[in-house]
Amino acid sequence: MDIGVIGAGPAGLALAWFLKGTKYNVTVYEGLNDVGLKPCAWGLISGIEDYVPITKEAIISEIKGFRIYLDDKLVHDIRVNKKLGYIINKPIFLKNIAEKVEVKYNIKIIEKDGEYFTTEGTKIIADKMIYANGHYSLPKDNTIPAIQYITDYQIDKEIVEFYFYSDLLGYAWIFPDENGSKIGIGGWADIPFLKERIKRILKGKILNFHGARVSDFGILEERLNGRFIGEALGTVYPLTGEGIRPSIISAKLLADSLLNEKNFEREFKKSKLYWTIQTQAKIVHGVKKGYMSLKGLSRIMTKSDPNLVLKVAIGDFDSFDIIKLFGRMII
Ligand SMILES: Cc1cc2nc3c(=O)[nH]c(=O)nc-3n(C[C@H](O)[C@H](O)[C@H](O)COP(=O)(O)OP(=O)(O)OC[C@H]3O[C@@H](n4cnc5c(N)ncnc54)[C@H](O)[C@@H]3O)c2cc1C
Repeated sequence: MDIGVIGAGPAGLALAWFLKGTKYNVTVYEGLNDVGLKPCAWGLISGIEDYVPITKEAIISEIKGFRIYLDDKLVHDIRVNKKLGYIINKPIFLKNIAEKVEVKYNIKIIEKDGEYFTTEGTKIIADKMIYANGHYSLPKDNTIPAIQYITDYQIDKEIVEFYFYSDLLGYAWIFPDENGSKIGIGGWADIPFLKERIKRILKGKILNFHGARVSDFGILEERLNGRFIGEALGTVYPLTGEGIRPSIISAKLLADSLLNEKNFEREFKKSKLYWTIQTQAKIVHGVKKGYMSLKGLSRIMTKSDPNLVLKVAIGDFDSFDIIKLFGRMII
């Protein structure tokens, strides 16, 4: 059976990787001339190496601590003895997978009346086409802007910093990078606001500036039909904007459903990924609709037990954790 995948991001490449050597022949079509070009801070939580390989050369650093700020004041400075995650070189990480699967570059796919074509008009022949084209296919209302400066500011390579504000549904970050750091901000605000706010933490010589939209909506239930994976399905944690790991897990869930001839929607809805993303989405929607105050959320995220906040932030939580943090208003 021939499967065409639209988009060679973490989701599309991971799907091809999981289906390699099976009865499915997968071709990934990528509109750009290389992988890993989309703006991203390259943070990855530990555990994903159980799904896809992360080679040594793709690891910039191992994260062993984090600092949390509220309205420019440091509230937590946590260092642990274990690895919490990685800063990866995303292009190298993706390239390592792309080299082992079938990827066709510089081919942008367009759907017309249920059929698929390249921009030159060539028809794509496949038994099944899957969208893994990220935020590009999402309605604007389901996404928020995120901007990022690459600078030469040197930060401890094992530490990531998060800056929360009482007047922003979102946050700013400083992540270590190969030659300095990535200093970014994303949230429910317009770009001028974000550009102004990030000035408070911007340091070092600016080497590059870029941005993209990122989903903060949660899973799009109507896309749970086995034709969407990754951010195109909404697999981004709305509280953190973390999308690489969830997109890879969504690809695994689809691959397993295909291989075991199971219903993807049913399998996906049983997963921890679905429940944790949708729980975070409820929190974000609650603030947008005014059921919860932004100030209240910022305080909860910064003043509660940092280990509990970390569990909730990375999607490693159960209903008990949510009740401990938010009371019964979410569950
Ligand atoms: C500024 C910023 C910082 C971020 N930082 C992090 C982070 O540190 N950690 C993290 O986990 N997540 C982060 N994210 C989110 C993360 O980048 C995405 O959620 C993740 O890459 C989604 O993976 P994906 O494979 O679903 O989609 P994408 O990575 O967006 O890949 C989609 C691919 O499809 C291609 N494409 C699109 N349309 C077509 C078409 N019609 N035909 C062919 N190809 C097409 C695109 O060129 C792209 O290569 C960040 C996002 C932003 C904007």
